[in-house]
Amino acid sequence: GPALLFVKSSQGKGEGRRFYACSACRDRKDCNFFQWEDEKVSETRLAAREEYNRNHQPSFTHRQNVDRYKNFVILPSSKRRFCQKCQQLLLPAEWEKHSDHQFLCDITTAQLKSPSQLLYPLENKKTNAQYLFADRSCQFLLNLLIDLGFRRVLSVGTPRLHEMIQSKASQEEEFSVRSLLLDIDFRYSQFYTEDEFCHYNMFNHHFFGGEAARETCRKFLYEENGQRVIMVTDPPFGGLVEALASSFKKLMAMWRGTEEEGSDNKEMPMFWIFPYFFESRILDFFPSFSMMDYQVDYDNHALYKHGKTGRRQSPVRIFTNLTPSTIVLPEEEGYRFCTVCQRYVSSGNQHCEICNSCTSKDGRRWKHCVLCKKCVKPSWFHCNNCNCCTLQKHSCEKTEAGCFVCGKAGHKRSACPSLSRT
Ligand code: SAH
Ligand code: ZN
Ligand code: ZN
Ligand code: ZN
Ligand code: ZN
Repeated sequence: GPALLFVKSSQGKGEGRRFYACSACRDRKDCNFFQWEDEKVSETRLAAREEYNRNHQPSFTHRQNVDRYKNFVILPSSKRRFCQKCQQLLLPAEWEKHSDHQFLCDITTAQLKSPSQLLYPLENKKTNAQYLFADRSCQFLLNLLIDLGFRRVLSVGTPRLHEMIQSKASQEEEFSVRSLLLDIDFRYSQFYTEDEFCHYNMFNHHFFGGEAARETCRKFLYEENGQRVIMVTDPPFGGLVEALASSFKKLMAMWRGTEEEGSDNKEMPMFWIFPYFFESRILDFFPSFSMMDYQVDYDNHALYKHGKTGRRQSPVRIFTNLTPSTIVLPEEEGYRFCTVCQRYVSSGNQHCEICNSCTSKDGRRWKHCVLCKKCVKPSWFHCNNCNCCTLQKHSCEKTEAGCFVCGKAGHKRSACPSLSRT
């Protein structure tokens, strides 16, 4: 889909030069598209680009994959193979072509119902960053949205949540929740129909399936007059918040039934799962959102597993526009309700009388600094030189590069003032 317009800014040199680059791949190795904003592109180069794109289409269309799946499920289990190299379900006639690839045999119906276990996670940090929910976090999310009364889930980049919903729906008679998956990982088109999966880029709101796919999404959001639907998204953490927010606003506009943004300020209910240090960035774009204390755990991410076992705690949180007091967090995992703040918080998150809020962002007990007039991390101390609280080990000289969180120069992410905004 469309490229994004970026700006190359060099420190202290006024306006930078603008250029277009791929929205989805932040690594030039994955996609080397580059074009200055004012560049004239020759006919030959355009033609070459089109040629390149034609040659880099997936080997099957979504439609073809759906038909292949139908043929696959009627095979006896001895004939059900999955090529691990090509990440593809194989029909017997294709075995030959993949004979020197690694493959799995006797693919069961259960395996077909959990593609996120069958496919390998695309861990490529900068592009896909596929970090799958640990079972308990996924279960928690699903129970939460059922308790809140939702019946449809727009799963944007949450294949595991989608698959949990799909598989319960096919197994339990009285389970009435449905999900539509929007994801850039086209491998999922082998397992889901066009009504269950749309190939989608959340950095530029592009539906690869064109108007038909867009219509599928719109219809899904429109059902029951737009009632009882929630969007749940867990984007790659390296993603640009601006770009994501702009796409999510477009999805909200689609739900509202008008493509015009901001014509009506009603918002589609949403869970945006993202690290806590992006709080102020997210609130810049969605002022109605608040951050929940719940720590989201992942299966294949060593750093983001739950703290109880002595491992590091997860920095990933749920941002939502629903009323915080309605988001009930499990007491058995150490969350409690703060009656003053009217929300569930981590057990370590103490209510600060001066700030009049439960101020911890990371679950540890924070301490109040009278000079900074706010609560800060337990490991910070007040530096009179810098005139703010920061890490004990820091150099008082300002850093040159822009901060990863707010983009401003002068401090690093760990000392970003916007991190501790209350
Ligand atoms: N925790 C989630 C997975 C989150 S990982 C779960 O268990 O369901 C991020 C997801 O976003 C992956 O599924 C990845 O394929 C998808 N993704 C990455 N870049 C994307 C893009 N540009 N557009 C849409 N989806 C994208
Ligand atoms: Zn193969
Ligand atoms: Zn409180
Ligand atoms: Zn305080
Ligand atoms: Zn201080």
